[in-house]
Amino acid sequence: MNASTDDGAGGDPTEGVVYDLDPGCTIDDVEEGSLYRSTVNGVVEYGVFVDLSEHVSGLVHESKLDGEYDVGSEVVVRLLEVRENGDIGFEDVDVDPAAAEFVPVAQGDSADVSELSERIGDSVHLKGDIVQIKQTAGPTVFSVRDGTGVVPCAAFEAAGVRAHPELELGDVVRVSGSIEAHDGAPQVEVERLEALSGDAEGRVRDRIGAAVEARAEPADPEPLIEWPAFEKLRDDLADLARRLRTAVLEGRPIRVRHHADGDGMCAALPVQLALETFIADVHADPEAPRHLFRRSPSKAPFYEMEDVTRDLNFALEDEERHGQRLPLLFMVDNGSTAEDTPAYRALAQYDVPVLVADHHHPDPEAVAPLVEAHVNPYLHGEDYRITTGMMCVELARMIDPSITERLEHVPAVAGLSDRSKADAMDDYLGLAAAAGYDEEELTDIVEALDYAAHWLRYQPGSNLINDALNLDCDDETRHRELVSFLSSRARRDVDAQLDGVESHVEHERLDNGAHLYRLDVENHARRFTYPAPGKTTGELHDRKVTETGDPVITIGYGPDFAVLRSDGVRLDIPNMVTELQDELGGAGVSGGGHLVVGSIKFVAGARESVLEALVEKMEAAELDEELRSTLLREE
Ligand code: MN
Repeated sequence: MNASTDDGAGGDPTEGVVYDLDPGCTIDDVEEGSLYRSTVNGVVEYGVFVDLSEHVSGLVHESKLDGEYDVGSEVVVRLLEVRENGDIGFEDVDVDPAAAEFVPVAQGDSADVSELSERIGDSVHLKGDIVQIKQTAGPTVFSVRDGTGVVPCAAFEAAGVRAHPELELGDVVRVSGSIEAHDGAPQVEVERLEALSGDAEGRVRDRIGAAVEARAEPADPEPLIEWPAFEKLRDDLADLARRLRTAVLEGRPIRVRHHADGDGMCAALPVQLALETFIADVHADPEAPRHLFRRSPSKAPFYEMEDVTRDLNFALEDEERHGQRLPLLFMVDNGSTAEDTPAYRALAQYDVPVLVADHHHPDPEAVAPLVEAHVNPYLHGEDYRITTGMMCVELARMIDPSITERLEHVPAVAGLSDRSKADAMDDYLGLAAAAGYDEEELTDIVEALDYAAHWLRYQPGSNLINDALNLDCDDETRHRELVSFLSSRARRDVDAQLDGVESHVEHERLDNGAHLYRLDVENHARRFTYPAPGKTTGELHDRKVTETGDPVITIGYGPDFAVLRSDGVRLDIPNMVTELQDELGGAGVSGGGHLVVGSIKFVAGARESVLEALVEKMEAAELDEELRSTLLREE
């Protein structure tokens, strides 16, 4: 053998790692491809026998032998293979034992990350790849992953000085050191840290890949209720669970963007709960859930440029400052439409994979090329009645089935938030009732969530929402009092707003028989408070539907926007927007939403012509008593 052959431990074999086994070491302490110090204990015609320890011996076949050796000679060998019968084959390596630097290996000191909390105080070595490199004011902290978990490894060069500048994210390394408890969790105090290459690197990567694949496999819990329509989505949700678990196992941060409404929160919070538990399970660093998971509400019903720019800035800063990988983005109760694609194109400039779970009317052709997974009931011939909260409760249980008991009432809250008319609502309400929530309390939670979402604006507010949704379950009294407070404030504010606008609502009967109500929310509603224009329009609309019992269209408009709600009229708002764009040049019309609920933007100077054209189109629409609006609260 000569020096040009890869030594399996990085670089020139004369500088490579040569392990020196303690006498007590066994076959469990060695591995194929690595270099070992050995002593010749027998010379035969077909080669020499070498001892690595009292328990590890084998043959260097003459075909693998370079030099001439006597019994007692010291020789550096590479372990080629351990056969099934336990025989070990070596090859001679051109490394001078007198010049080599030996790395001692004690019996049983190789360890998996998952067992480190039981080995505090021990000296160990482990192999894995680097998923984060963080420079602190003291040591450089390398997060190393071996497929069973991720552990911080602190290497100290000098205070605030980068240790091992030769190492990069993704490198496969062998790290040895002592295990110390750091904030109650294991951390490796690095004594040696080196990159592996060639076969040794390949073997570690294969092992990590297999371990990640096995551990990423989601649980397969019984669905909370029997629901044939939902069954079609289960494989898609299991695929999402697998991708999210894989991201955690790869040390990739996860960012959730969700619609800032009741259903969006009922979807995102259970996923957050499940992922934070899983992150804490995989990562030894107790701060990992905080660093690797971030959830943000989106005010708009699509991923706005402003939001994606902010997300990208955070991600690139985290990459630079904390040595993190770029995140995976998970869009929840949002993300299915062509309006989301400019934001996705911005992310495509970087390595940020996108997953979507949504129940808004999708544009799969526009979205598919830009996302890795798109889960939406419409893609299976179902519709919005399967809300995102219903889907994501099952998703969360696939990620971590142990949280099931805390989530049993959540699909009912999600369904009530979005006014789902699904047949399964009765079963979900029954499930919630069995968990101690009657429909009145569930409705209060819906109002409380909506009110909290309004005032939280761009903040995630996890603790507040967990209390309102009662996901923490540690203080039932606080939950009930908080919900009662928030929901009564919400109702009071809505009543005050509607009482105030009542005399400014314009009414007319359209040719097709529908009632049209119009309200200038800019001049006649209180602004910058709850309820916002979208909610104000929705609540007014609901009152009129109840009062008249007839088909109703309601328009709440400002200087450059209009919120549309309709019941019993066959509208196609996205199509109306397209037509307005063609007919009214220079009006700057954009927007859309669902077929019968939506919002439209335009330039202020074109307001009169846009509203006039809108009403004409509504007048031409057919009535359909069965058609009820379902999705509310779009701003
Ligand atoms: Mn929804």
